[in-house]
Amino acid sequence: MESFEDFKINKQLGYAIEDLGFKKPTLIQKESFSVILSGKDMVGIAQTGTGKTFAYMLPILQDLKFSKQENPRVLIIVPTRELVLQVVEQIEQFGKYSSIRVLGVYGGTNINTQKQAVAQGTDIIVATPGRLYDLVLSRSLQLKSIKKLVIDEVDVMLDLGFRFQITNIFDLLPERRQNIMFSATMTEDIEALIDDFFITPQKVSIALSGTPLDNISQQCYIVQNFYTKVNLLAHLLQDEEEYHKVLVFVSNKKSADRLFEELDELFGSEICVIHSNKTQNYRIRSIKQFDEGDNRILVATDVMARGLDLDKISHVVNFDTPNFPENYMHRIGRTGRAKQEGKSLLFYTEKETRFKEDIESLMDYQIPEIDFPEGIEIATRLTPEEQPKIVERDNPHKQTQYVPGASFHEKKEKNKKVNQRGAYERELKKKYKKPKTRGDKNYNKRNKRK
Ligand code: AMP
Repeated sequence: MESFEDFKINKQLGYAIEDLGFKKPTLIQKESFSVILSGKDMVGIAQTGTGKTFAYMLPILQDLKFSKQENPRVLIIVPTRELVLQVVEQIEQFGKYSSIRVLGVYGGTNINTQKQAVAQGTDIIVATPGRLYDLVLSRSLQLKSIKKLVIDEVDVMLDLGFRFQITNIFDLLPERRQNIMFSATMTEDIEALIDDFFITPQKVSIALSGTPLDNISQQCYIVQNFYTKVNLLAHLLQDEEEYHKVLVFVSNKKSADRLFEELDELFGSEICVIHSNKTQNYRIRSIKQFDEGDNRILVATDVMARGLDLDKISHVVNFDTPNFPENYMHRIGRTGRAKQEGKSLLFYTEKETRFKEDIESLMDYQIPEIDFPEGIEIATRLTPEEQPKIVERDNPHKQTQYVPGASFHEKKEKNKKVNQRGAYERELKKKYKKPKTRGDKNYNKRNKRK
């Protein structure tokens, strides 16, 4: 489908698109339209800027009939207040010629005002998970009429610790509904969520072409273990002229902190770190310092560095090898921007070879290997994850039966409670206490997450 006419969209939407000046659908819009319209569950891998908001709104609005009912029929969950405002604005632009009602709700503002707004009735509700959950628990918002659920930027949402709210919201929704999810990156957490709640979803991925930019040179090193990787990186970073603006990627917060701690001793004021356990202010400050050249090295997790638009990065270092090849493409795309030359290094252990090969087959390109430099110490120290697991033989107490994992318990517990609304609410109140102020609530939430 090459033009909006091929979508056979209704007149009202057509006028709105004309007003917006859009000439043809973007790739994600083309790919998602018929899938969403068919009512199937969908998982879209797409970054901000690809036109993903309209990609899900277009078929949803096309399908949404006029109604006077109060309870919303479409629920869109996004991670931040800014995104709520942005999505509401885009829906308003699109719905300009139809009488679709849309409402945005988010934390940090008076909940009573929002309760009143909800009571007025709406067709589409756009919400952050925390506020949405509070509104549902206080019975101000009913989710029983939701036919379509969109979760946008789910990777950011999980990284911010919203899994609890998301899974609980899932349980409060009617069973017969369409689930649509968008994420820029794929992680194991997201896969687990999809497995638990989606029904044979169709995957639409346009995040990458698999073809890296010509102006990014790629190289890789095979390295023994985490601390040897630290030694290698420290060795390379000594060349300040060559490595003048280095973005180091790690896959999780724990590794980010561990690496930062090691490098901090050697490079002190030249290094900063960002991941989701750092406060927003800390993250903004770190990014600014790095971007303005006050810090030479930035250590970041995939999710946090995703939206970064940084200038003139000399090197992207993949300190670990992403197990989803898409993430590698995102990482290296941080360098070589605006036609500048960029360099990417990949450190992989023997265990990570499989992931490196997946990346290579996606790109149809073999990353040139560099010999491990001489004189770098091979570390004997291992991270807790690298330490060999002790295998017990003939332990009579050992449980051999299958023990379901945490998420299984979680789900089973909740399912049991479906018909005990009052008790369930009381249970949750106990858990969270009654928030007196927003600060208090946040404090409780934070503590729970630990
Ligand atoms: P998003 O990825 O949803 O954040 O959208 C990024 C931007 O692309 C938004 O500002 C949209 O207004 C714009 N956009 C969305 N679809 C199209 C299109 N088909 N043609 C041109 N611009 C678009």
